[in-house]
This record gives sequence, structure tokens and C-alpha cells, in this order.
Amino acid sequence: MIIYIETQAKSYPLAQKILSKFADAYIIEIDHYKNIFDKTIWVKSLANAIILAKQQNIPIFSTPANYGYQWKSFFFKSILNCIFDCKYCYLKWAFKTTFPTIFVNYEDIQNAIAEKINSLRKSGYNDTIYFYASNYSDIQWLDDMINFNQSFIPFFEKFPNVLMESRTKSANIKSLLQCNTETSKHFQNTEISFSLNPQLIIDSFEHKTSSLEQRIDAINTLISNWWKVWIRFLPLLPVENHLQIYSDFISYIRKKIDFDKINSIFIWSIIYTKSDYNNLVKRWNFIFESKFHEHSDWFMRIEGSITNDFKLLFTSAFPNKQILFDII
Ligand code: SF4
Repeated sequence: MIIYIETQAKSYPLAQKILSKFADAYIIEIDHYKNIFDKTIWVKSLANAIILAKQQNIPIFSTPANYGYQWKSFFFKSILNCIFDCKYCYLKWAFKTTFPTIFVNYEDIQNAIAEKINSLRKSGYNDTIYFYASNYSDIQWLDDMINFNQSFIPFFEKFPNVLMESRTKSANIKSLLQCNTETSKHFQNTEISFSLNPQLIIDSFEHKTSSLEQRIDAINTLISNWWKVWIRFLPLLPVENHLQIYSDFISYIRKKIDFDKINSIFIWSIIYTKSDYNNLVKRWNFIFESKFHEHSDWFMRIEGSITNDFKLLFTSAFPNKQILFDII
């Protein structure tokens, strides 16, 4: 195991904690994480190296139009890269290396988030503000190491009418349960959202992620420990026989999960920018090519008849739930 560490990141408590966990690691001090991160380095195992860095000029990006809830919503990043290997994931070609890169200056990231909230409130915006934490990695799979939950979940509790989502395909909920134990609190401002797909799709396209069964167990444990849980049916894939496969899947999970206790449901297809799509087709024998087309908003989306199938299927399966769509 190699740990690349920026000189300026060394003194942060999180960096020290991670270094102490890997006492046998080979440590290489670097000036800037991009000197490694932006180089094409291929390793067999993603666990072979990690990068510890300090995030500077911290960006809090607005989400694109029609992304999730229609409140003011933002992405922030605390880690880049993901150990899972979903075939359809744009991260696999967005970055040159696959090394997980952990930004250890959590307090600075939180200050940037607080500034964003305060400036919106000062401008007179009183509605909900939403933050997405997991668009650059699946945080939960390694939270035992990075302590994101322990730091960010209590942080978001300080702000009325603000929510943070951590999305995952991991059944590793140890550190979430630990948050309950350490603080004896039920957190109101964090939603843990699980992406679910039929096991057949997990096997074919979501390598190294937790199985459907494990994710269901994790959902049920969190619900019984008072966590707010979302379910995201994401991404819905235009596989052969999609209607049958997804309707069997819905019947199955309705027996396993009490949907009255699920905070909200999203259904999302899969969309790419033209350039991400071209990269995907180049790198992967993309079996859905005939099902995608360029939409009037210039995104590549699956064809309308299939998205309509999905909409109908999910709205009739969950008639009493508000279902948010990204599919058009
Ligand atoms: S879990 Fe999410 S971030 Fe990780 S590879 Fe899969 S789609 Fe990408």
C-alpha cells in the first residue's frame, strides 16, 4: 500500500489518523495531489494507493436543472474516485487515476458549505437547501477510514431546513450506526440514499458493490435505527426484457422493505453528455447503443418508449408515494 500525501495535508488530524491506521504503508510526500492524480497510472487493485490532500478554492457547484428536488441544490466533494466498478459510471474515465483521493481539511469544506447557506439565507431564500455529498465517490464503503459521517452529519444538523444526501451501493453502515451510539441522536438533516437495481443487473454492471440482499438488510437496519432513508432506483437500464425484470424486482422488494418508512423515492434513467457517452462507447463494448439517442437538451438519454415504461411501472407500483423522476 502506498500513501501519497501532500506536504500541506500532513498536519491535519484526519491525515494523521489515516496514516496511523496504515502503519506499514509506504509514504510518499508530494507537493500537490494533481501531480499524481492527473497522471495515467494503472494498478491492478484500487486499494494499492491512496492520496491525502488539502482541497483549495473549494467549489460548491449548483446542480443542473431538473436534478432531483427543485430546491436550491449543490454538489460538494470530500473524496474523489470509487472502489466500486460500475460499468456505466462516468468516473471511470473522468479521472486519470483510480486512486481514492481524500481531502482531509473537512473544516474548510464545511466553512465553504456554511458560507453558501448563509449567503442564500441573506439573499432571502428560506426554502430547503440540498447538498449532494456522493457524486464523486461512494463514501459509505470506506467511512470506517475517512470519518465523513462523524464529521459531516452533526455539522449539517446545525442548519434549519438544510438536507444532505449520501448515496451508496454499499451495505457498510457500521459508521452510521456508530454515529447514533456516539451522540444518542436521531439525525434530521441527513438522508442515506440507496441505489437499488435487480440482482441480475448488479451482477452484470455493478461489480464489487453490495448485493441487493445486503443493501435491503442495511436499509431495514437503518430504518429501525431512525435514519431517514431514500431509495433511488438508479440507474434504470434498458436491458432486454426490462419490463418483466423490473416488475419482478419491484414485487420482490415490496415484500422486503416497508415503503411507508422510506423517506422518498427517485427513479432515474441514465444520461450522459455527448463526450462522456463517446468515451463510454470507446471504452466499453456498450451494449445499449441502439437504445440511446441525443435528446433536444443535447444529453444522451434512453429512448422515450422505455422511459415511459419505467414511469408507468413505478408510479403504479407505488401509488401513494411521491416519486421524483429525472426521466423525460
Ligand atoms: S458506486 Fe457510484 S461512484 Fe462508484 S463506480 Fe458505481 S456508479 Fe460510480
